[in-house]
Amino acid sequence: MFVSRRIASMSESATLAVGAKAAAARAKGHDVIAFAMGEPDFDTPENIKRTAITALERGMTKYAPTPGDKAAREAIARKLTQENGVETAFEQVTVTAGAKHAIYMALQAIVEPGAGHEVLLPTPAWVSYKSLIELAGARCVEIPGAVANGLRITPEQLAEAITPQTVGIVWNSPSNPCGTAYPAEEVRALCAVLERHERISIISDEIYEKLIYPEVAPGLTHFSPGSVASLRDRTITINGMSKSYAMTGWRIGYMAAPRAMARELIKLQGQMTNSIPSFFYPAIVEALTNSAEGVEAMRAKFAARAALIKRELDAVPGFVTVAPNAAFYAFPDVSAHFGKRTPRGTPIDSAQSFADALLDEAHVAVVPGEDFGACARGHVRLSFACSDDAIVKGIGRLRGWVASLDRQASA
Ligand code: PMP
Ligand code: GLU
Repeated sequence: MFVSRRIASMSESATLAVGAKAAAARAKGHDVIAFAMGEPDFDTPENIKRTAITALERGMTKYAPTPGDKAAREAIARKLTQENGVETAFEQVTVTAGAKHAIYMALQAIVEPGAGHEVLLPTPAWVSYKSLIELAGARCVEIPGAVANGLRITPEQLAEAITPQTVGIVWNSPSNPCGTAYPAEEVRALCAVLERHERISIISDEIYEKLIYPEVAPGLTHFSPGSVASLRDRTITINGMSKSYAMTGWRIGYMAAPRAMARELIKLQGQMTNSIPSFFYPAIVEALTNSAEGVEAMRAKFAARAALIKRELDAVPGFVTVAPNAAFYAFPDVSAHFGKRTPRGTPIDSAQSFADALLDEAHVAVVPGEDFGACARGHVRLSFACSDDAIVKGIGRLRGWVASLDRQASA
């Protein structure tokens, strides 16, 4: 059967692929310690689950309006306005089938295929952005964040990357895979560059917004580009329930866009998926208005794990790790081990071969860096959305395996 070139040339999601490989190894009976998926190990808070169950029992089982019911859109608009300073009316909100779907739609809306459009992507960046930028028909222009600068880009780099073809930037702070957030003043400085280029739309993916650890980086706070008055009319702010509320399997995201753009996005969603399941809408309201304690409890646990995994990784010879201070990822540079062999004789010459051999031989799953951007080729990603015990045991096992590489080193 014919497959279009734009789909055939697309790569599989590396995060989902490693998640599947880890699950397959487990199914074969291996004791796998998985740092693979960016998925909280916590269960969805009980009050949110009960709200959905009650709505279902009460018969909320019909189609809802395409962008979502009014109460949920109003709760989202209030949250964005009050918590993020992104002034939003409910008409500007679309509730989507996960944040991933929102990113897909936003890119479809801002890119004209065949027009030579470019979309900027500060890297290391989550694996799906580049594929979705290219699928929309734009060239993905990576802006590499240096390890020496905490994997963050500078305003000078941003200014240099902009060309007359630049139509957008995909912004993600806190970052997957870096596990870091930009300090507010750095976001403001980058926004100041974007202010000078009116053609550039900003897609700001803020899905890890609530997972920031001032315990690790004192004073660190979240800053939304959509709160900058001069950028408001060209920013699409994306967020979702997956990470902050441990609701990955529910598939709920949302985006707020300028009014005219919101109408276009709702039109697109109406032709794609229509609304999400209608009995989820009251659960969104419950999550946004009545779950702060549950979110804080999870955040505090992640903060402690961020410090723990950094300590453990620093004890692995050759690893260089920027301290995680947000989200639930550590992203060490492991390239010091390239050029070695495993005890079974497998050559390690890339993050991919490192991750493959680590899973095969030590049953520890990490995501190789290649698909997070060219500057991430020497890195692997570890998600610390797992127990303290798993972190200590898994990195202990990783350390032992890395030590065995040293013994087997070849030219
Ligand atoms: N953005 C980022 C940065 C992510 O890490 C993820 C991974 N889940 C998503 C968006 C998509 O989230 P979801 O579709 O579950 O809302
Ligand atoms: N975003 C998560 C991750 O990076 C979940 C998988 C995915 O959608 O990519 O692991």
